[in-house]
Order: sequence, then C-alpha cells, then structure tokens
Amino acid sequence: MQDKASCIVSMGSNMGSREDNLKAAVRRLRSDPHIFDLRVSSVYETSPVGYLDQDDFLNICVAFKTDLEPEELLDLTQKIEKEGLRERHIHWGPRTIDLDIILYGDLEYESSRLTIPHPRFRERAFVLAPLCELTGMEYELPQGQEIRRVGQFEFE
Ligand code: AMP
Repeated sequence: MQDKASCIVSMGSNMGSREDNLKAAVRRLRSDPHIFDLRVSSVYETSPVGYLDQDDFLNICVAFKTDLEPEELLDLTQKIEKEGLRERHIHWGPRTIDLDIILYGDLEYESSRLTIPHPRFRERAFVLAPLCELTGMEYELPQGQEIRRVGQFEFE
C-alpha cells in the first residue's frame, strides 16, 4: 500500500439545514475505510461569491490522511455530494453540499476533471481561514470578503 497523503477538503452549504448537511458529509467522509485521522475546523459563515442572489454559506475545512489516489478521492467527494442531493441549477449558485479538494500533500496535479491544488483557493477567505486554522499555514485573507467564525461542530 502507498504512503498516506495529508489532504484538505473544503465543504460548504447554503440550502436547507446547512449545519446538518455539513455534519452528514463529515460523518460520511470520516466513516470511509480509506480516510484516517480526520479533523474538522471551526464553522465559518460567509456571504456568497460569484452568484450573489442566494443565502449565506456555512463553510468548514477538514484535514485527513488517505491512501486513495487523487481521482479516487474525487470519486468519493462527488459521491458524498450526490448523496447530499446537491442541487445545481445555477453555476456557483445555491447548493446543498459542495466538497472541493484543496490540497493533496504537496502534489500538483491536473487532469480533465481535477486540478490540485484547487485553482481558486487562495482567492477565497472561506477556504483560507479554516485551512490556516487546521494546518498552521499562514495566508493573508483577501480584502472585502465577509467571514464570521460561528462556532465548532460537536459530534456525539
Ligand atoms: P464546483 O462547481 O466548484 O463544485 O466544481 C465542480 C467541478 O470541478 C467538477 O466537475 C470537478 O471535476 C472539478 N474539479 C476540478 N478540480 C477540483 C478539485 N480540486 N476539487 C473538486 N472538484 C474539482
């Protein structure tokens, strides 16, 4: 078996019970046999980026180790999105649950369906704030993006 890679996945929800949607995705990821040592950031509330006429998002990042290859990890995150009945009517519009692979170790990877590191993560305060919290990395947050730390999930 290959060495495990340390990964960061960003999650966001702005439809229905946002907290329940995020918690369900965390539970689903954490219970997968290929996901190890999963840690969850604080929860942040952010105004939408892109398509503005939609509700605010709750965002978190999770850090974990995995023995999945990058494309296999994308298969898993996309499966979790589908299970969350993500609705996609408008590009960058409302979604039940959105999972983005931000970092996969220090890998740089590009295919028709996957780019790692995620190409826009440095522009998004809702990724950078929880990422810095989990990893100790230091990024300056982009100007003008409202972001509020609203607490921490408790998992029974
Ligand atoms: P989005 O609407 O931002 O969730 O984008 C979803 C699309 O981005 C999917 O078709 C993925 O194949 C593609 N994609 C490319 N790179 C990534 C990444 N690092 N994490 C998640 N999806 C990605």
